[in-house]
This record gives sequence, structure tokens and C-alpha cells, in this order.
Amino acid sequence: MKVKRGYKAELDLNNEQVTLAKKHCGAARWAYNYALIRKKANYEQGLHTPYAAELHREINVLKRTDFPWMYEVSKCALQEALRDADDAFKHFFRKVALKKQGLWKGKCGYPQFKSKKKAIGSARFTGTIHVYADAMQLPRLGLLRLKEHEYLPMNKKIGSATLSEHAGRWFVSICVHEEQVEPPKATGEPIGVDLGIKTLATVSDGRTFANPKALRKKLNKLKRAARQHSRKHTGSKNRQKARQRLAKMHVRIANVRKDALHKATSALVAKTKPESARPRVIVLEDLNVSGMLKNHKLALACADVGLYEFRRQVEYKARFAGVEVLFAARWYPSSKTCHACQHVVETLPLSLREWTCPQCGTWHDRDLNAALNLAALA
Ligand SMILES: [Zn+2]
Repeated sequence: MKVKRGYKAELDLNNEQVTLAKKHCGAARWAYNYALIRKKANYEQGLHTPYAAELHREINVLKRTDFPWMYEVSKCALQEALRDADDAFKHFFRKVALKKQGLWKGKCGYPQFKSKKKAIGSARFTGTIHVYADAMQLPRLGLLRLKEHEYLPMNKKIGSATLSEHAGRWFVSICVHEEQVEPPKATGEPIGVDLGIKTLATVSDGRTFANPKALRKKLNKLKRAARQHSRKHTGSKNRQKARQRLAKMHVRIANVRKDALHKATSALVAKTKPESARPRVIVLEDLNVSGMLKNHKLALACADVGLYEFRRQVEYKARFAGVEVLFAARWYPSSKTCHACQHVVETLPLSLREWTCPQCGTWHDRDLNAALNLAALA
């Protein structure tokens, strides 16, 4: 089976390359905004709304006289941004149609302008893209050094490459068309996984994955940085500096968390182990979306993001390892049910980490009991 897979790696750019990369992101942003303006204006006048190819022809004429800077950037960046604008409207109209039928309750998401104040943004490339062991080649930008060697797949068909910036670091992500061999079905014992805030994950076989210790300390620092940022005058240089500091801190925390999540989800799926050592089924809780979004506390909010990411990782890693993933029904009381006798207690405050079943007298670790209940659903 043919699959598309994304690979992302950090780039090691020199100043000249950073400038050129920024120019490409800027050009992409400009083209996207240009498309929005043109489409909106024509739509309001009842005229045909121009598509990416038409707009690109228009820009090509204009660039000779009005936008000479465009000669410095690859035409791909502009083309792809114009295509993104097409897609943005397509999605918008699709949601509007769904809303009319009552099948969509959320916002329709009218395409918004991209602002350089918000982020440097990104630029997508097609065309001549090559991956080498320690570098990658993009149109116009030439050879760019990679920080991690031999991670990106070489000699594969590459659909596109996206250049992006995040808190001062530059990344490239490539979309690769791969031939995926259907993995043999796993045959090991099913496992249940209880996700939590104190412990990242508790598994029904007794394993636990702790939340990284560095996280709490970093969160306190983050709070302070956020306060300092909010005290600086709007529009001042100091505010800008504080914002960059804050952004870097957010990225560092996110990376610590991401690393812990990847280690835990990889260990659960156990792709490299033989079929009999991989769980047949992994049972997870279904997450309560609206309830979680009400969390305003920083630590909890971070944890929530982690839960979604955990679930996403387990799902895609399981797919590559022949492991099935099941979700418990939303209101299934995995914590409140005694796994020994199925007695359901009425209340179980979150602060209670251990409890004894009033019916059969079994002592329970809250998280492990929940994990065992989930495993039993398989
Ligand atoms: Zn019991």
C-alpha cells in the first residue's frame, strides 16, 4: 500500500540562508494575502473568483514592473501559497454547505490574512528537491545543512518540502511517498492505558510512564516569563525581546514533553519487538473534549495537549505495527469500577489515589485499576 509520510528535521543555516529563507516565507505570505484580496474583491462584485494558476499568471506580469523582489525567490513558494488560498476557500465553502444542512456546528473559518507580526511563517517547495546524508537541496536556496544526519529518507519520491521557523530555529519537513508493507498482526495480550496528569500513563500490565520531572520546574519559569512579558509596554523593543524569550521557553517545554510522549507511545506499541510481544489491542479512554477545554490552569492545559498528542501518536504508531487501537465509550467509568467484582462506586474524588472496594474489599491503585478495566474491554 502506498502511503504519504512526513519527516521533519532541523536545519543549520548561515545568516545568508536565513535571510533568503525569510524572503521565501515573506513571499509566500504576500502571495496568500494577495489571493485573499483578489478573490474577495471579485466575489463581492459578482465576478469569477480567480484560481491559483490564474493569479500566478497575473503576478508574473506584475512582477516585471511592480515587484522586482520576486525575482529573488523561487516561484514554487508563490504558487504553493496561492494553492493554499484556493484550499482555504474550498474548506470554508464546504463548511458553509455543511452548516446549511445542519451537519456542522462549529465556525466556518473564513480565510484570514497572514500577519508577519504573528510569525515568520513557512514556504512550501516543489520541483527539484534532493536529500543527502547531511544536507538537503531546495530550489533557489541550494544546499542547506541538516543538524541531524541520515534521518531524512534518501532516494525516495518527494512530494514537497516545507521550510518553517519556530522560535529562532529553522526546520524542513518533507512529504515522502512510501511503499508500506502491511505489518503482520500483533498477537500479544491486549493492554489498557490510563492517561493522567501526575503520571503520564499507567498500563494494565503494571508499567508506568512518569511525566518528565523537569517539566514542573520549567512551568514555574514559564509563568514568570509570561508575567514579565505582559508587564512590558506594547510595541516596545523590550516587549519584543520578552516575547522571544517566552516563545523559546514554550518550545523547550513542548520538546521535553514531546520526547516523553514519544518514548512512552513507542514503548507501548513496541514495533521492533516480535508479533507475540506486541499488544493485540491497545485500549484508551475517549477524551472529553469540551470538558477539557475549560481548563485554564497552565499545567493542566499543557497536560491536555499532551493527551491528544499521546492518542495521536499511539494511533499512527499502532497502524505501522499491526496493533489495533480501541477507545472506551465516553462515559465508561473506568476509574470508579472495581476490576475484581465490577462494583461501581458512586463517587471517587480526584485526590484519592488509592481506594478499597466496599463490596469485595480489593485494594486498588486508582490508575492501575482504570487501566485494567480498559484492558478488559478489548
Ligand atoms: Zn470489588
